[in-house]
Amino acid sequence: MIVILKPGVSLAQMGELVRFIEGQGLRVGRIVRGEERTVIGLIGEERGVPVDRLRAFDGVEDVVPVQKPFKLVNRELQPEDTVVRGRGFSFGDGSFTVIAGPCAVESEAQILETARFLKEHGASLLRGGAYKPRTSPYTFQGMAGEGLELLARAREETGLAIITEVVSAEDVTAVAEVADVLQVGARNMHNVRLLQHVGRSERPVFLKRGQSATLEEFLLAAEHVAAEGNPNVVLCERGIRTFERYTRNTLDIAAVPLLKGLSHLPVVVDPSHATGRRELVPPLSAAALVAGADGIMVEVHPDPENALSDGPQSLTFRQFAEMMERLTRIRGALRAETAGV
Ligand code: PEP
Ligand code: MN
Repeated sequence: MIVILKPGVSLAQMGELVRFIEGQGLRVGRIVRGEERTVIGLIGEERGVPVDRLRAFDGVEDVVPVQKPFKLVNRELQPEDTVVRGRGFSFGDGSFTVIAGPCAVESEAQILETARFLKEHGASLLRGGAYKPRTSPYTFQGMAGEGLELLARAREETGLAIITEVVSAEDVTAVAEVADVLQVGARNMHNVRLLQHVGRSERPVFLKRGQSATLEEFLLAAEHVAAEGNPNVVLCERGIRTFERYTRNTLDIAAVPLLKGLSHLPVVVDPSHATGRRELVPPLSAAALVAGADGIMVEVHPDPENALSDGPQSLTFRQFAEMMERLTRIRGALRAETAGV
């Protein structure tokens, strides 16, 4: 439910309103001060709440029910885009932000060489898993704490912000000490305890869509993070499971404009996990840009043939550099199109 306030509402009026709201078993999820109006997003069980009494409060202009189950991440609550910012990067402000790096941190040489290259070629964040939630227990599971230290060293040397995955609630504090952005992977999108823990962290959260999650379930996962007080969530479409076998997953490109319409959160596309094939990464990155995504996450490896995980979908340095040049040209064309040139 959204409470729209009258301009110039006093603090005393607000206090009284909030007391009434809390007395109804609801909670103030978020106060959004827009350019034209201030609105309060209420969360909790709405059934039985006397909407007419709320409407009658001094200082309340209107009370609008939010039909969709996600409230705080709903664009109805906040029409303006959320901008998620951190060390040298931003998502949601009209920029196209590139996250790149290996699937997993494998060695000091591997991560440093990759970080140096990416820094020179336009990436804003370095990715690399230290904890790898692999489908099989018999494949490389990541370097854990040592991997985090190597990521910290790569940031020290290049200044690139770090994004890495956190796989369990107990690890959130340790990972947040190194990571500029906490990644919650597709396999963990439904892990409510983990979502709640990252929701209490100061770090932005990069939330990947579950392999079989509907967009509503995806937005409800983001809502869990926001409901714990962390509004800095970036949504990542990384492909969903379908009957198609030529690709690892199927990129749901429609999710990009759909999510941007339903929610004010930034949306990023991961064409690497969506396809499992490196030759498909550049065209789908272009598709993401044209569809209105706020950025991409791509896997890049100095020697993909010998990568310990996800080699077939990892771009070589050369492929990454070529893709970045092409994306820059497409951005130019898009800008000209929007300007009506
Ligand atoms: C990853 O980014 O390396 C990863 C494991 O992705 P996903 O959670 O989307 O499978
Ligand atoms: Mn991977």
